[in-house]
Amino acid sequence: ALDDLQDPRPIARQLHEAFEDLRAARGEAVDAAVMRCLGLLDEFALPATEVADSPRASGKPPGRKASGLSADASWEEVANAPLSVLAGVVPKREKEFAKFGLQRLEDVFYHLPFRYEDRRQVMTTRDLRAGEMATLVVRIRHVDERGAGRARRRILTVVAGDDDGSVELVWYNQIRWFAQRLKIDSTWLVHGKVEAAYGAFLRIVHPEAEPMEEGAQAPVAGLVPIYEKPTAMPRQAMRRAVLAAVEKFAARIPDVIPSEVRERLDLLPMAEAFTQVHVPTLDADLEALAEVRSPAHRSIVFEELLLVQLGLLMRKGEVKATPGIAFEPRGPGVARMLAELPFSLTAAQERVAAEIEADMLRPQPMHRLVQGDVGSGKTIVAVIAALQAIESGYQAVLMAPTELLAEQHWKTVQRVAGGLDVSLDYLTGEVGAAARREILPRLASGAPGLVVGTHALIQEEVQFGRLGLAVIDEQHRFGVMQRAVLGRDAGEAASPDILLMTATPIPRTMALSVYGDLDLSRIDELPPGRKPVRTEVLAASKRAPVFAAIREEVAAGRQAYVVYPLIEESENSDLRDATSGAAEIREHLPEFSVALIHGRVPAAERERIMREFQEGAYQILVATTVIEVGIDVANATVMVIEHAERFGLSQLHQLRGRVGRGASAARCLLVADWAQSNEARERLRVMTETADGLRIAEADLAIRGPGAMLGTRHSGVPDFRVANILRDQDLLHQARAVATTILERDPQLVSAEFGALREALASRWAGRLGLARVG
Ligand code: ADP
Ligand code: MG
Repeated sequence: ALDDLQDPRPIARQLHEAFEDLRAARGEAVDAAVMRCLGLLDEFALPATEVADSPRASGKPPGRKASGLSADASWEEVANAPLSVLAGVVPKREKEFAKFGLQRLEDVFYHLPFRYEDRRQVMTTRDLRAGEMATLVVRIRHVDERGAGRARRRILTVVAGDDDGSVELVWYNQIRWFAQRLKIDSTWLVHGKVEAAYGAFLRIVHPEAEPMEEGAQAPVAGLVPIYEKPTAMPRQAMRRAVLAAVEKFAARIPDVIPSEVRERLDLLPMAEAFTQVHVPTLDADLEALAEVRSPAHRSIVFEELLLVQLGLLMRKGEVKATPGIAFEPRGPGVARMLAELPFSLTAAQERVAAEIEADMLRPQPMHRLVQGDVGSGKTIVAVIAALQAIESGYQAVLMAPTELLAEQHWKTVQRVAGGLDVSLDYLTGEVGAAARREILPRLASGAPGLVVGTHALIQEEVQFGRLGLAVIDEQHRFGVMQRAVLGRDAGEAASPDILLMTATPIPRTMALSVYGDLDLSRIDELPPGRKPVRTEVLAASKRAPVFAAIREEVAAGRQAYVVYPLIEESENSDLRDATSGAAEIREHLPEFSVALIHGRVPAAERERIMREFQEGAYQILVATTVIEVGIDVANATVMVIEHAERFGLSQLHQLRGRVGRGASAARCLLVADWAQSNEARERLRVMTETADGLRIAEADLAIRGPGAMLGTRHSGVPDFRVANILRDQDLLHQARAVATTILERDPQLVSAEFGALREALASRWAGRLGLARVG
C-alpha cells in the first residue's frame, strides 16, 4: 500500500517507530515478521541511494520524490524549495537540517565541505597501520550483535576481510541500520581511522561504510567531501543530501556574473563551480580544495562578494539620491569656538572637518564614518559639525553608547560651546522626569540646538522637530537597527545627516565589506606632544614590580589606573577582582588614596568619584572596564591591566589610550597569567609592539576573525556564507572594483545585461541589506 502513496515517507516513519517500540518492548523475543517489516519500512524511510538501488524503486516514475517542484520550476523556486524535495530527506532529517540553518535548497549548495578526505587509494588490510586513515574494500565474514537485551546500548562487532587479512569493524548504540545490512559475504567499502585492538586484529570504530554491488566500482573511492552536520547523523546522510541537490539542481543555478567579467577573472560558471566543490573529480587539486582557493571556490566567493558590494554601493547610491539638507557654510559661531580653544586643530582634524563640511553643504544626506584613534580629538570635530547645523537653523544630536561617555561629551560640549549663544541639552535615561518635561517639548518644537545623550535619544517619545545632524559615537555598539531608527527621525521632508564616529580603527577590508555603504574619514594623527605609552607584559605571580611602578609615578605627582576584568570575587573563577585588588593596593601602598569604581556603583556616585579623581583627590583608581570610555585625565600616567590575557586587542588598546593624554610619558603594564593561550600571548605581543590603532585592528581581525571583531553578527550586517574577508582580500578588492564599474554604467541595474544580477540581488540580499529599490 505504501508503494501507491505519493509520498510514503511520513507514514513509513510512523510505522517504523511503532515497530521499533514493539521491538524494544519485547527485547530478544522479536519475531521474524517484525524484523521483516522494519527492513521493508527502511526502504521507504531511509536515504535515497538505498532506495534508488532497489529494483522496486527504480520502477517508479522519475522525479516522484521531488514532489512539489515541477520540472520547469524557476531557479528562484528551486532555491527556495524545502529540503524534503531531495530524495532521501525524511521529515525527521529535514527538521534537523532546518535547525542547523539548512532550510532551502540554496542553503545546501552554500554548505561547503569543511575538508576533503582522500580516498583515491583503496588499500588492502595488509597496508593498515594503527593511527592512520584507511579506505578498504572488504567482505563481511562474521557479525556479532551484543547487548540486545537493552535495546539502546548495543555493540555490533564485525569481522571483515580481503585476500590479505582481516579487520574488525565496531559500532556502538545506533547499530540497527548496519546490523540489518552487513550480511555475511556482502562486500563493503569502509573508511575510517585504524586502531589497535586487543588480540590480533586492527579495528575501525564507527567506520563509514557503503555497500557495494557485486562487481560494481567502488562508489565513493575518490575525494570525499566532509561536511559539518547538525546531529550525530551518519556523514553519508549529510553527503547524500548535498549530492542529491547537486546532481539534480546544480545545472539550474544561474550565472549572474556578466560573462565578460567571468572570463576576465577566470571564474567558472556557477553550476560547474558548485559541482566541483561538492563532487570533486579524481584529478582535482586536493590542496587547493582544502584551502578554499580552488577555482571553484574562488568563483563562488567572488559571486558572493560581488553581490554584497553591489548591495552596499546601491544603498550608498540610494542615500545620495534621497533629498537631504543643504546646510549653510560654517558661521561665526564655529569661528568663535575655534578661536577660543586652548589648542589649534591638527591637520588631520582640519581635513576631516572639511570633508564633513563639504558633505553638509550638499543637498544629500551625509552618511560618513569618522575613524580616529583614542585621543585623536573626534569630539571637537563633531562639535564643529553640530554648530554648522545649528547655525543653519537645525537641531543636532550627539549620541554616546554609555552614560559615562555621554557625560564626558556633555562636559566637552559645555566647555567648548558653553560660551556661545546656542541651546545645549543633555538627555539620558538618568535624566529626571522634571528635566525631561522641559527638554522634550523643546526638541519637538524644532528650536535649533545641540542635545547630548545616550540611546535615550532615539526612544519613541523623543521627537525632533527639525533634526539636521545626528552624530553617533562608537557607532558599532549601536548597530544597524538604530542607524535606521535615526534615519526615520528625518520626519517628512529631508533626511538628516549622519556622522558615525569610532575609535576602533577599521581594517581596510572590513571597511569595504561591512561599511561599504559609508563614506570614510580617518583622523590619522594625534595632537602634538603625546609620547608613546611604554608597554610591558608582567607575570601575575610577581606583584612587586607592579606596586613599584605605581609608587614611582604616583610619588612623582601622577595618577594611576588599575583595571580588573571582574568586580568582585566569584565562586566560579579564581580571577583577581577589582574589589580585592583595591584592598591589596591599599595594603601595599598605604600612603596613597585609592578609589574603586565599577558597573555596580551607581552612576552618580561613579561620576563623583571620577570627577574627584580628575581633580586629584585620589591617586589610584581601581576599576573594571567602565573606564574604557568616558574618562580623560591628563595627569594619569600608569595603566595597569590585570588579567590582560582576558581582554581583546581592541579593548586593551582602548584602555591603554586612557593614559598618555598629557605631556608626560606614560606606562602600561599588562599583567598576565602564565597559563595563557597562544592567542592571548599573541595579543599581548601585538600590544607591546605597536601603538598604531590600525595595525592593532588588523591583528585583531586576523586573530579573532571578522565576525567576532565588531560583533557584526549582532548588528545586522550580513554574514558571509562562503567569503572570508581576510582570506579573500584580493577577491574583495576585485569585487569592489567590478561592482563600481557596473554601477557606473547602470546605477539601477535596469539593462537586460544585468537582469540576472538584479534578480540575484533582490532574492538573496534584499532582506538583509534593506535595498528598497532593488527587486
Ligand atoms: P577621542 O578622539 O578619543 O574622542 P577627544 O575628542 O576626547 O578624543 O579628545 C581627546 C583630548 O584631546 C581632549 O582632551 C581634547 O580636548 C584634546 N584635543 C583635541 N584636539 C586637540 C588638538 N588639536 N590639540 C590638542 N589637544 C586636543
Ligand atoms: Mg571620543
